[in-house]
Amino acid sequence: MATVPSKARCSTCDKEKNTVRCEGCLKLFCYNHLTDHRQELSGELNEIEINRDLFRQTLTEQAHDPTKRILIKKINKWEEDSIKTIHKAAHEYRQLLLQTTAENITETELNLAKLTDQLKQTRQENDFNEIDLNHLKRMLTQLAKRLDMPPNLSMKEDSVALIHRISIVLSSGHTNPRVIELRKAAEGLGFRIAGGREENSPIYISHIIPYGVAWKHGELKKGDQLLSVNGVSVENEYHETAVCLVKQAQDIVKLVVQYSPQDLNEMENHFDQ
Ligand SMILES: [Zn+2]
Ligand SMILES: [Zn+2]
Repeated sequence: MATVPSKARCSTCDKEKNTVRCEGCLKLFCYNHLTDHRQELSGELNEIEINRDLFRQTLTEQAHDPTKRILIKKINKWEEDSIKTIHKAAHEYRQLLLQTTAENITETELNLAKLTDQLKQTRQENDFNEIDLNHLKRMLTQLAKRLDMPPNLSMKEDSVALIHRISIVLSSGHTNPRVIELRKAAEGLGFRIAGGREENSPIYISHIIPYGVAWKHGELKKGDQLLSVNGVSVENEYHETAVCLVKQAQDIVKLVVQYSPQDLNEMENHFDQ
């Protein structure tokens, strides 16, 4: 009896059949289930297309009405929440003050009545000089003060913030290549470079020497990727090549650099190793 050659198993029906391997998920499928699998994938592609269309719509909306941007919405929310917090606190403080107001008024009425009696008496007896007048004045001032700020109350500014500040930070990273022309001095150009093809890294400005040519010029910064020296590209070049080019250059040296902070971090990590 001829033995049937053993076949691979379909990952869907688990039957031994002629199968085809999907290069994406590396699973084997019988012909029937391969069709199903293709349909599944096609469904996923549809979903991506739908999401793309939705995103297209969002982009158009935001282009026409920038207030729809999510960050602006976040700022609006922060504003609303902060105002609510302040309103709530102010309401509580007012309630607290109103509770003590009745007491304060009654007490002030009593004290004013006393002062009124004293005034009448002073007038009747016609026996007063500057000292008595000053005393009466002080009493009246005191009453007014206590009405505004009863002695059992005080208001102070808390050092703890009721609301939290938020900030929007625009990073100052230049992403476009910049041309920098430095005039070579006796001591050189005043910067050091790191990286290079042998380290699988672009060539970077790793240090700006204080008070040197580059430092005084002010445009070159640590983390700039060096793209070319006097028109000669150093992208994908060895470290020494770039060093030589910089050394050979006379008078005005034209550098093309590009600042990319994310690469800078990688470079720093690289330096730390
Ligand atoms: Zn199958
Ligand atoms: Zn697959």
